Amino acid sequence: MSTIELLTRARRGKDLGIMGAENLALDWPAVIARKDDIVARWSKGKDATPGKLGIPVLRGHGQFTSPHELVVDGRNFSADKFVIATGSKPARPAIPGVELGITSDELIHLKTQPGELVVIGGGFIGLEFGFALAWAGTKVTVLQSGPRIAPALDDEIREILLNAAGEAGMTIKTNVKVNGIAAGKNVEAEVGGRAEKFAADEVLLATGRPSNVEPLNPSAAGIELDRGAVKVNEYLQSISAPHVYAVGDAAGKHQHSPVAWYEGPIAAHNVLKGNEQKVDFSVFPSAIFTIPAIGQVGLTEREALGRGIEAKVSKLSYDSNPAAGVRNETEGMVKIVYEEGTDRILGVHVIGARAEDIVQIAAVAIKGGLNKSEVGAMHYVFPTIGGAIFDTMAS
Ligand SMILES: Cc1cc2nc3c(=O)[nH]c(=O)nc-3n(C[C@H](O)[C@H](O)[C@H](O)COP(=O)(O)OP(=O)(O)OC[C@H]3O[C@@H](n4cnc5c(N)ncnc54)[C@H](O)[C@@H]3O)c2cc1C
Repeated sequence: MSTIELLTRARRGKDLGIMGAENLALDWPAVIARKDDIVARWSKGKDATPGKLGIPVLRGHGQFTSPHELVVDGRNFSADKFVIATGSKPARPAIPGVELGITSDELIHLKTQPGELVVIGGGFIGLEFGFALAWAGTKVTVLQSGPRIAPALDDEIREILLNAAGEAGMTIKTNVKVNGIAAGKNVEAEVGGRAEKFAADEVLLATGRPSNVEPLNPSAAGIELDRGAVKVNEYLQSISAPHVYAVGDAAGKHQHSPVAWYEGPIAAHNVLKGNEQKVDFSVFPSAIFTIPAIGQVGLTEREALGRGIEAKVSKLSYDSNPAAGVRNETEGMVKIVYEEGTDRILGVHVIGARAEDIVQIAAVAIKGGLNKSEVGAMHYVFPTIGGAIFDTMAS
């Protein structure tokens, strides 16, 4: 995504006096090769760590045969306690012709850039890939089953994202029922009750990622699942099998890398020392790497009002941020949802350049108990896009 974001910005270089920028093109095979190289280098480093710590690693697929025993590719093992960290896997919807579609796991290995891509699913993964490919020149159509793409987004942020999708040349259809994928990768669907067909070189299945625990044969260990994930308490301990803990996507709470990194040490601590550490997701920043990106923490305006909170909103367009102006990145908005009277910050939603970084400033402020006017009164570095958050708090 970041390569294509750079390309998109660079193509606008003409506005800054950079000649030839509008003719820049993407070398798709080179982009994929670089991605493979980065992944390989990072994995290599991670692979070596257990060995350095004297932890034996057994490579293979594990399956429980009883509460304390498992078989790994024909070899039997037993242990007093277990931590499950088997991640998630892409869902394959039960539609005729689903085998003609690909998931994000395959898309990131495509050797050629598809000319036309239909994305089934308007959630975060579908939108991230949709935006990236659209800006890279693919004709992208996103088919979303419900009335809204990315339903967890703040409504105004979604509107800005939809405008950006239009600029990128994407087509977004909502209230879609996909009936199947026909030969030639034609997606057959009903849109608002009317039959429509969507031609594609590739069909991306982006309909969620269920936890990947079932292949472990969890029932043999007495492990209960909740929508495919291990049902855990705040100590990450299985509710039904107390000698088992689960982390990351296998525990199913939030599917983000930092969650897995955060939960791993907590589960390890609780396994070894008893249940001493609880997980805390009370302040949880997250980002969507669309182009432009979105960062959010806390409640949306709709959620705050739904909870009966006297919520007020403060917002500022990137247009009014000098750093954004100098960088020619004026599309975007910072929106703050706060409590009337107390100024308590309830949620912060950012769309635009650096949104994923800016929202972290808000997360720290919320965690530290600072209210809107306190953040608004702070000194900050000028000119910075991050300054937009302080200006919005002050407004
Ligand atoms: C396309 C895409 C984009 C994403 N982008 C972001 C992002 O921008 N930011 C972010 O924070 N998160 C992102 N995520 C989510 C993030 O990748 C996951 O939340 C994270 O990797 C979960 O970590 P994990 O350790 O739980 O599982 P994983 O990283 O999936 O690791 C699970 C491991 O378990 C192994 N395994 C599975 N079954 C068995 C078995 N039976 N026996 C032995 N081993 C087994 C697997 O081989 C794998 O190595 C993205 C995910 C996808 C698919």
